[in-house]
Amino acid sequence: MLELQGLTKTYKTGDTALSDVSFSVPKGQIVGLIGPSGAGKSTLIRCINRLVEPTSGRIVLGGRDLTGLGVRDLRAQRRRIGMIFQEYALVERLSVMENVLSGRLGYVGFWASFTRRFPPADIQRAYRLLDRVGLMTHADKRADALSGGQRQRVGIARALAQEPELLLVDEPTASLDPKTSRQIMRLLVEICTESGLPAIVNIHDVPLAQQFMQRIIGLRAGQVVFDGTPAQLTESA
Ligand code: ADP
Ligand code: ADP
Repeated sequence: MLELQGLTKTYKTGDTALSDVSFSVPKGQIVGLIGPSGAGKSTLIRCINRLVEPTSGRIVLGGRDLTGLGVRDLRAQRRRIGMIFQEYALVERLSVMENVLSGRLGYVGFWASFTRRFPPADIQRAYRLLDRVGLMTHADKRADALSGGQRQRVGIARALAQEPELLLVDEPTASLDPKTSRQIMRLLVEICTESGLPAIVNIHDVPLAQQFMQRIIGLRAGQVVFDGTPAQLTESA
Protein backbone atom coordinates (compact mmCIF):
# COMPACT_ATOMS: atom_id res chain seq x y z
CA MET A 1 0.00 0.00 0.00
CA LEU A 2 1.08 3.55 -0.81
CA GLU A 3 0.33 6.46 1.48
CA LEU A 4 0.82 10.13 0.69
CA GLN A 5 0.63 12.41 3.70
CA GLY A 6 0.45 16.17 3.24
CA LEU A 7 2.63 16.12 0.14
CA THR A 8 3.63 19.64 -0.86
CA LYS A 9 6.00 20.81 -3.58
CA THR A 10 7.01 24.38 -4.19
CA TYR A 11 9.55 24.77 -7.01
CA LYS A 12 12.45 27.25 -6.76
CA THR A 13 10.49 29.47 -9.16
CA GLY A 14 7.84 29.88 -6.44
CA ASP A 15 5.26 27.71 -8.25
CA THR A 16 3.40 25.53 -5.76
CA ALA A 17 2.71 22.43 -7.87
CA LEU A 18 1.31 20.32 -5.01
CA SER A 19 -0.38 21.59 -1.89
CA ASP A 20 -1.06 19.24 1.02
CA VAL A 21 -1.98 16.18 -1.04
CA SER A 22 -3.00 13.16 1.05
CA PHE A 23 -4.44 9.84 -0.11
CA SER A 24 -3.59 6.18 0.02
CA VAL A 25 -3.74 3.44 -2.57
CA PRO A 26 -4.34 -0.10 -1.24
CA LYS A 27 -2.91 -3.24 -2.81
CA GLY A 28 -4.40 -4.18 -6.16
CA GLN A 29 -6.06 -0.80 -6.67
CA ILE A 30 -5.40 1.22 -9.79
CA VAL A 31 -6.04 4.95 -9.48
CA GLY A 32 -6.45 7.25 -12.46
CA LEU A 33 -5.00 10.71 -11.91
CA ILE A 34 -6.76 13.40 -13.95
CA GLY A 35 -6.64 17.18 -14.09
CA PRO A 36 -5.91 20.04 -16.46
CA SER A 37 -2.39 20.83 -17.65
CA GLY A 38 -0.40 22.35 -14.80
CA ALA A 39 -2.54 20.67 -12.11
CA GLY A 40 0.48 18.88 -10.64
CA LYS A 41 0.07 15.34 -12.02
CA SER A 42 3.64 15.00 -13.29
CA THR A 43 5.00 16.57 -10.11
CA LEU A 44 3.08 14.03 -8.03
CA ILE A 45 4.52 11.11 -10.03
CA ARG A 46 8.03 12.64 -9.88
CA CYS A 47 7.81 13.16 -6.12
CA ILE A 48 6.87 9.52 -5.56
CA ASN A 49 9.75 8.19 -7.64
CA ARG A 50 11.92 10.90 -6.14
CA LEU A 51 12.99 12.61 -9.34
CA VAL A 52 11.69 15.68 -7.54
CA GLU A 53 12.31 16.41 -3.85
CA PRO A 54 9.04 17.16 -2.04
CA THR A 55 9.09 20.37 0.00
CA SER A 56 7.18 18.68 2.83
CA GLY A 57 5.01 15.68 3.56
CA ARG A 58 5.61 11.96 3.54
CA ILE A 59 5.50 9.15 1.00
CA VAL A 60 5.13 5.77 2.68
CA LEU A 61 5.38 2.59 0.60
CA GLY A 62 4.77 -0.75 2.29
CA GLY A 63 5.30 0.84 5.71
CA ARG A 64 8.61 2.51 4.81
CA ASP A 65 9.03 6.26 4.42
CA LEU A 66 10.61 7.18 1.07
CA THR A 67 11.27 10.78 2.04
CA GLY A 68 14.55 11.90 3.53
CA LEU A 69 16.62 8.98 2.19
CA GLY A 70 20.33 9.08 1.36
CA VAL A 71 21.58 8.40 -2.18
CA ARG A 72 22.23 4.70 -1.68
CA ASP A 73 18.90 4.01 0.01
CA LEU A 74 17.17 6.03 -2.66
CA ARG A 75 18.49 3.74 -5.40
CA ALA A 76 17.25 0.67 -3.51
CA GLN A 77 13.85 2.26 -2.89
CA ARG A 78 13.48 3.20 -6.55
CA ARG A 79 13.75 -0.49 -7.40
CA ARG A 80 10.49 -0.97 -5.50
CA ILE A 81 8.69 1.28 -7.99
CA GLY A 82 7.96 0.15 -11.54
CA MET A 83 7.71 3.00 -14.03
CA ILE A 84 5.79 2.92 -17.31
CA PHE A 85 6.23 5.85 -19.67
CA GLN A 86 4.33 7.59 -22.44
CA GLU A 87 7.14 7.08 -24.96
CA TYR A 88 7.97 3.60 -23.60
CA ALA A 89 11.67 4.43 -22.96
CA LEU A 90 12.87 1.12 -24.43
CA VAL A 91 16.41 0.52 -25.62
CA GLU A 92 15.49 0.44 -29.30
CA ARG A 93 18.37 -1.63 -30.66
CA LEU A 94 18.05 -4.35 -28.02
CA SER A 95 15.64 -7.26 -28.22
CA VAL A 96 12.31 -7.42 -26.45
CA MET A 97 13.75 -10.04 -24.08
CA GLU A 98 16.79 -7.87 -23.31
CA ASN A 99 14.59 -4.90 -22.57
CA VAL A 100 12.58 -6.95 -20.08
CA LEU A 101 15.77 -8.31 -18.47
CA SER A 102 17.07 -4.78 -18.04
CA GLY A 103 14.10 -4.19 -15.72
CA ARG A 104 14.96 -7.26 -13.71
CA LEU A 105 18.68 -6.66 -13.39
CA GLY A 106 18.87 -2.88 -13.33
CA TYR A 107 21.11 -0.94 -15.68
CA VAL A 108 24.48 -1.90 -14.19
CA GLY A 109 23.54 -5.52 -13.54
CA PHE A 110 22.16 -5.82 -17.03
CA TRP A 111 25.38 -4.80 -18.76
CA ALA A 112 27.46 -6.92 -16.38
CA SER A 113 25.36 -9.98 -17.23
CA PHE A 114 25.30 -9.13 -20.93
CA THR A 115 28.96 -10.01 -21.34
CA ARG A 116 28.55 -13.22 -19.33
CA ARG A 117 25.21 -14.96 -19.15
CA PHE A 118 21.81 -13.93 -17.90
CA PRO A 119 20.63 -15.86 -14.84
CA PRO A 120 18.28 -18.65 -16.09
CA ALA A 121 15.67 -17.88 -13.44
CA ASP A 122 15.48 -14.29 -14.68
CA ILE A 123 15.10 -15.46 -18.27
CA GLN A 124 12.29 -17.82 -17.28
CA ARG A 125 10.55 -15.05 -15.41
CA ALA A 126 10.96 -12.69 -18.36
CA TYR A 127 9.34 -15.30 -20.66
CA ARG A 128 6.43 -15.67 -18.26
CA LEU A 129 5.93 -11.90 -18.29
CA LEU A 130 6.18 -11.71 -22.08
CA ASP A 131 3.56 -14.45 -22.27
CA ARG A 132 1.36 -12.44 -19.89
CA VAL A 133 1.51 -9.31 -22.04
CA GLY A 134 0.98 -11.34 -25.23
CA LEU A 135 4.47 -11.01 -26.73
CA MET A 136 5.91 -14.51 -26.29
CA THR A 137 6.61 -14.89 -30.01
CA HIS A 138 8.29 -11.47 -30.17
CA ALA A 139 10.99 -12.11 -27.55
CA ASP A 140 13.89 -12.03 -30.04
CA LYS A 141 12.67 -9.10 -32.13
CA ARG A 142 14.35 -5.74 -31.78
CA ALA A 143 12.29 -3.20 -29.88
CA ASP A 144 12.36 -0.83 -32.86
CA ALA A 145 10.56 -3.45 -35.00
CA LEU A 146 7.44 -3.29 -32.80
CA SER A 147 4.27 -1.23 -33.02
CA GLY A 148 3.47 1.36 -30.34
CA GLY A 149 1.06 -0.95 -28.52
CA GLN A 150 3.60 -3.77 -28.52
CA ARG A 151 6.28 -1.42 -27.20
CA GLN A 152 4.06 -0.39 -24.35
CA ARG A 153 3.49 -4.09 -23.55
CA VAL A 154 7.28 -4.48 -23.35
CA GLY A 155 7.34 -1.45 -21.05
CA ILE A 156 4.78 -3.12 -18.80
CA ALA A 157 6.69 -6.43 -18.75
CA ARG A 158 9.93 -4.60 -17.97
CA ALA A 159 8.35 -2.77 -15.04
CA LEU A 160 6.94 -6.06 -13.69
CA ALA A 161 10.30 -7.83 -14.10
CA GLN A 162 11.57 -5.52 -11.40
CA GLU A 163 9.10 -7.18 -8.96
CA PRO A 164 7.90 -3.76 -7.86
CA GLU A 165 5.63 -2.90 -4.94
CA LEU A 166 4.05 -0.02 -6.84
CA LEU A 167 3.45 0.90 -10.48
CA LEU A 168 3.66 4.52 -11.60
CA VAL A 169 2.29 4.99 -15.08
CA ASP A 170 2.72 8.33 -16.86
CA GLU A 171 0.27 8.88 -19.74
CA PRO A 172 0.67 5.31 -21.06
CA THR A 173 -1.62 5.75 -24.04
CA ALA A 174 -0.85 9.31 -25.12
CA SER A 175 1.01 8.04 -28.21
CA LEU A 176 -1.47 5.27 -29.09
CA ASP A 177 -4.66 5.06 -31.15
CA PRO A 178 -8.00 4.68 -29.28
CA LYS A 179 -8.35 0.91 -29.77
CA THR A 180 -4.78 0.16 -28.68
CA SER A 181 -5.22 2.58 -25.76
CA ARG A 182 -8.19 0.57 -24.50
CA GLN A 183 -6.24 -2.70 -24.81
CA ILE A 184 -3.33 -1.27 -22.81
CA MET A 185 -5.63 0.14 -20.10
CA ARG A 186 -7.45 -3.19 -19.82
CA LEU A 187 -4.13 -5.02 -19.50
CA LEU A 188 -2.92 -2.65 -16.77
CA VAL A 189 -6.11 -3.09 -14.76
CA GLU A 190 -5.96 -6.90 -15.07
CA ILE A 191 -2.32 -6.98 -14.00
CA CYS A 192 -2.90 -4.84 -10.90
CA THR A 193 -5.92 -6.91 -9.91
CA GLU A 194 -4.18 -10.27 -10.33
CA SER A 195 -0.81 -9.24 -8.86
CA GLY A 196 -2.17 -7.07 -6.04
CA LEU A 197 0.00 -4.14 -7.10
CA PRO A 198 -1.18 -0.63 -6.28
CA ALA A 199 -0.87 1.72 -9.27
CA ILE A 200 -1.23 5.39 -10.11
CA VAL A 201 -1.91 6.19 -13.75
CA ASN A 202 -1.59 9.74 -15.00
CA ILE A 203 -4.26 9.99 -17.73
CA HIS A 204 -5.21 13.15 -19.60
CA ASP A 205 -8.00 11.27 -21.38
CA VAL A 206 -10.93 11.51 -18.92
CA PRO A 207 -13.36 9.18 -20.79
CA LEU A 208 -10.63 6.53 -20.89
CA ALA A 209 -10.09 6.93 -17.14
CA GLN A 210 -13.82 6.65 -16.55
CA GLN A 211 -14.06 3.49 -18.63
CA PHE A 212 -11.25 1.60 -16.92
CA MET A 213 -10.30 3.00 -13.53
CA GLN A 214 -11.89 1.80 -10.27
CA ARG A 215 -11.02 5.07 -8.64
CA ILE A 216 -10.28 8.52 -10.01
CA ILE A 217 -8.42 11.32 -8.26
CA GLY A 218 -8.79 14.78 -9.73
CA LEU A 219 -6.10 17.39 -9.19
CA ARG A 220 -6.50 21.10 -9.79
CA ALA A 221 -3.91 23.73 -8.91
CA GLY A 222 -2.00 21.19 -6.82
CA GLN A 223 -4.95 20.06 -4.71
CA VAL A 224 -7.16 16.99 -4.69
CA VAL A 225 -10.55 18.23 -5.86
CA PHE A 226 -12.15 14.84 -6.52
CA ASP A 227 -11.64 11.32 -5.17
CA GLY A 228 -14.22 8.71 -6.09
CA THR A 229 -15.57 6.25 -8.63
CA PRO A 230 -16.14 7.00 -12.33
CA ALA A 231 -19.91 7.07 -11.63
CA GLN A 232 -19.44 9.70 -8.91
CA LEU A 233 -17.32 11.76 -11.30
CA THR A 234 -20.15 11.76 -13.85
CA GLU A 235 -22.62 12.90 -11.15
CA SER A 236 -20.35 15.70 -9.91
CA ALA A 237 -19.72 17.04 -13.42
P1 ADP B 1 0.67 18.52 -14.90
O1 ADP B 1 1.50 17.29 -15.01
O2 ADP B 1 -0.66 18.28 -14.23
O3 ADP B 1 0.53 19.24 -16.20
P2 ADP B 1 2.95 19.68 -13.55
O4 ADP B 1 3.24 18.86 -12.36
O5 ADP B 1 3.79 19.49 -14.76
O6 ADP B 1 1.40 19.52 -13.90
O7 ADP B 1 3.02 21.20 -13.16
C1 ADP B 1 2.38 21.75 -12.00
C2 ADP B 1 2.86 23.18 -11.79
O8 ADP B 1 4.23 23.17 -11.43
C3 ADP B 1 2.75 24.08 -13.01
O9 ADP B 1 2.45 25.37 -12.54
C4 ADP B 1 4.15 24.04 -13.60
O10 ADP B 1 4.43 25.21 -14.30
C5 ADP B 1 5.00 23.90 -12.35
N1 ADP B 1 6.25 23.16 -12.62
C6 ADP B 1 6.35 21.89 -13.08
N2 ADP B 1 7.63 21.51 -13.18
C7 ADP B 1 8.37 22.58 -12.78
C8 ADP B 1 9.76 22.82 -12.64
N3 ADP B 1 10.66 21.90 -12.96
N4 ADP B 1 10.14 24.02 -12.19
C9 ADP B 1 9.24 24.97 -11.87
N5 ADP B 1 7.90 24.80 -11.96
C10 ADP B 1 7.46 23.63 -12.40
P1 ADP C 1 3.48 17.98 -18.78
O1 ADP C 1 2.32 18.66 -18.14
O2 ADP C 1 3.10 17.12 -19.95
O3 ADP C 1 4.39 17.30 -17.81
P2 ADP C 1 4.79 20.53 -18.98
O4 ADP C 1 4.77 21.39 -20.19
O5 ADP C 1 4.01 20.92 -17.77
O6 ADP C 1 4.38 19.08 -19.48
O7 ADP C 1 6.30 20.31 -18.51
C1 ADP C 1 7.32 19.97 -19.40
C2 ADP C 1 8.65 20.03 -18.65
O8 ADP C 1 8.94 21.37 -18.22
C3 ADP C 1 8.66 19.20 -17.40
O9 ADP C 1 9.92 18.60 -17.24
C4 ADP C 1 8.39 20.17 -16.27
O10 ADP C 1 8.96 19.76 -15.06
C5 ADP C 1 9.04 21.44 -16.80
N1 ADP C 1 8.32 22.65 -16.37
C6 ADP C 1 6.98 22.83 -16.41
N2 ADP C 1 6.66 24.05 -15.96
C7 ADP C 1 7.83 24.65 -15.61
C8 ADP C 1 8.15 25.91 -15.07
N3 ADP C 1 7.23 26.82 -14.75
N4 ADP C 1 9.44 26.19 -14.86
C9 ADP C 1 10.39 25.29 -15.15
N5 ADP C 1 10.14 24.06 -15.66
C10 ADP C 1 8.88 23.76 -15.90
